[in-house]
Amino acid sequence: LMRWLCRIGRAIQQRQVPRRIEERCAELILSDDKLRDVCQRLLVELNRGLNKDTNKEATVKCFPTYVRELPNGEECGKFLALDLGGTNFRVLLIELGPHIFHMESKIFAVPQSVMLGPGTGLFDHIAECLATFMHENKVDVSPLPLGFTFSFPCSQEGLTKARLATWTKGFKCSGVEGEDVVKLLQEAIARRGDIKIDVMAVLNDTTGTLMACAWKNPACRIGLILGTGINACYVERLENVQLWDGDFDEPNQVVINTELGAFGDNGTLEFIRTEYDRTIDQHSLNPGRQLFEKMISGMYMGEVTRLVLAQLTREGLLFDGMGPEVLFEPGQFFTKYVSEIESDKKGEYTCCRQVLEELGYEDASDEDCANVRYICEAVSRRAAHIAAAAVACLLNKMGQKHVTVAVDGSLYRFHPHFHDLMVEKIRQLINPGLTFDLMLSEDGSGRGAALVAAVAVRIGSLAAR
Ligand code: BGC
Ligand code: MG
Repeated sequence: LMRWLCRIGRAIQQRQVPRRIEERCAELILSDDKLRDVCQRLLVELNRGLNKDTNKEATVKCFPTYVRELPNGEECGKFLALDLGGTNFRVLLIELGPHIFHMESKIFAVPQSVMLGPGTGLFDHIAECLATFMHENKVDVSPLPLGFTFSFPCSQEGLTKARLATWTKGFKCSGVEGEDVVKLLQEAIARRGDIKIDVMAVLNDTTGTLMACAWKNPACRIGLILGTGINACYVERLENVQLWDGDFDEPNQVVINTELGAFGDNGTLEFIRTEYDRTIDQHSLNPGRQLFEKMISGMYMGEVTRLVLAQLTREGLLFDGMGPEVLFEPGQFFTKYVSEIESDKKGEYTCCRQVLEELGYEDASDEDCANVRYICEAVSRRAAHIAAAAVACLLNKMGQKHVTVAVDGSLYRFHPHFHDLMVEKIRQLINPGLTFDLMLSEDGSGRGAALVAAVAVRIGSLAAR
């Protein structure tokens, strides 16, 4: 009897979600078998990217970055950094030293008209923000080394040469795909003529994140971004990188920017994609591309959730069929709402009610809230679990006893359960004997850019000696 009473108590406290809602969400819940399948399929795609004969058609490109040395903690000097491609565009001034680490940074807006306009407009805007920042911080006299974090898929031809393969996320500027973005930046700076810089490196945010963490932690071998977009990089042995065209000096390793956000673009993830994922893709700036990213990252997760909420409301399973209007407007349900709703303690709905009120829905019942939360959880768990499958795939492929994964990005930082969900699932998916940890890498895109530039300066000065 006691057990029965407890169960009823718990059910009342946590509110059972109606069976029909559970059934409608079942396609979002991925069994371990399916996740293992995701792991295996990603391994196939990574190898196709690394392999010379298959790289051309590969969807997961595995670009070699030309970053081979990890920082050793001895980097020092003053560096500028640019960070483009995440939630914010930032310019940074970073001072590295044996015990000092100092950073000034400023966020600049990139208006949507610039994100979708001509490439020259974008780079003129970047150069203008950089100039403003350099004048304000009085570092406009002698040229400083600069690291450029450009968080889009690029095929690199050297540490300072990166051709944009294709825009992703919210960007689509004309005249940039196929071009070297460092050259475009330098041309924009030359057009102004008021500042001087030395571009020492161009890098992906995943590489920056890896570097920022490796500075203090030598076990760090993977960089992962879970933010506006998703992607990972890892340290690979040169013998496995058939496309490597650089020298074979020590260290015989290079950071590979996998661009695994494009996983699934050849159809290999159709067995887990849903109607919601297809809708998101069709209405995106880059249909048919970045299909894995569209199931996970911050730019899309709120929208996946909205589509489920809207559909189930239409079917009469939610809000008595009459939910908040904005649920039916694309783009109006942000990923941060999912994070907020899931911040409530189990059985409480304070944040959930706040979000619904923000959406103009005043008197949500406890049932409404429990259902909304259930759907948010289904979508974010799916995202965390397939992201975990990707990490497990990399860990298994690398086969090193212990690897630290450096993680950054707004989704990882602000979602209350993403970290725990991932750790739990990675544990279940990695090969026996392997261990790992996920470590927040504070401000990888900024600090990492300075570190890559610093390592380049250090190696350059060694070579010059
Ligand atoms: C880009 C990657 C980037 C990731 C995270 C993706 O859309 O293609 O280059 O690392 O977003 O910012
Ligand atoms: Mg960033």
